[in-house]
Amino acid sequence: MVHQSHPARLLIIGPQGSGKGTQGVRIAEAFDIPAISTGDVFRAAVAGGTELGLQVKSVIEAGELVSDELTSAVVRSRLDHADAQDGFLLDGYPRNLAQVRDLDEFLSGRGETLDAVIELRVPRDESISRLSLRAQQQGRTDDTEEVIANRLAIYERETAPILGVYRTRGIVDEIDGVGTLDEVTQRIVAALEARGLNRSAAA
Ligand code: AMP
Repeated sequence: MVHQSHPARLLIIGPQGSGKGTQGVRIAEAFDIPAISTGDVFRAAVAGGTELGLQVKSVIEAGELVSDELTSAVVRSRLDHADAQDGFLLDGYPRNLAQVRDLDEFLSGRGETLDAVIELRVPRDESISRLSLRAQQQGRTDDTEEVIANRLAIYERETAPILGVYRTRGIVDEIDGVGTLDEVTQRIVAALEARGLNRSAAA
């Protein structure tokens, strides 16, 4: 049987402490697509002192969101690279409904749609204990349970409407994020394969 290769266009969404960044990289490797994290792009720009970095430095340091206009422009230009023509995994974007619209507009201009949105689910108590442990290990005193709980509440408030939109399209895969790294990766791969998305032969 000849397998038609189907490029995977994916989003990964999950709270802090869910292992989202790590799983995103693993899934991108398995499907041979670039993992694009807007947080990483911005942090690299700041570290590299680029023009973009100078534009976003103070916003990021204040823990605020970069404007939708600038964020969507950065994502568009990244998706225009040759390596993202045959699929991609976005992490940290879209973060609100305006960004959902921007992404839709960009992809429809290319005649593309998203294949799947991976929602990594970790119970709140588990996220709090993972993040508290990490804070302890790193000697951070600012990451109290209260601060962490507040960040998780913001996450829920921000992502609920985004997931709502994608749910109506039937493309959200809810994945249990509790387990070993390998177990969680396996669950995600199985859900994507059930959608007819195939892992790269090379991976
Ligand atoms: P993160 O690593 O996803 O927490 O992102 C780090 C910082 O980058 C955030 O606090 C924001 O300032 C900025 N950022 C990342 N993604 C976005 C986005 N989609 N929209 C606006 N700002 C973003």
